[in-house]
Amino acid sequence: MSFKFSREDAADLINMIRRRRPQWTEKGILSQLQTAAEHGASLGQVTTAAENTWNNPKAKTPAALLWAEHWEVTTTKAVNLSGARYCVECNPARKHPIADMTQVGPGQWICDGHGPGKEDNA
Ligand SMILES: [Zn+2]
Repeated sequence: MSFKFSREDAADLINMIRRRRPQWTEKGILSQLQTAAEHGASLGQVTTAAENTWNNPKAKTPAALLWAEHWEVTTTKAVNLSGARYCVECNPARKHPIADMTQVGPGQWICDGHGPGKEDNA
């Protein structure tokens, strides 16, 4: 059985998941990733499913990684890398050129003034 992503990729993904869901065990997550790999999931697919899972408040255990709803591909929400975005930290909300922003989540952007490590400047 050749997997479309490696054990090292899985380890990186587990770290990404556990940063957001620290109560989930490495073993529990790995077991779900292995199942996904055995069904032919690519790294991109499993990463997308992981992101959908950690963004889903109903996902309470690693088993949620395999929920069908987390594997539905949405092609309509293509990332638009031009123009301006609202900063989720600026209050009141302000738009900034995309070049001055960092994406922090699906549809969520913060401006350079609110970038990582700059929270104290708010
Ligand atoms: Zn801002």
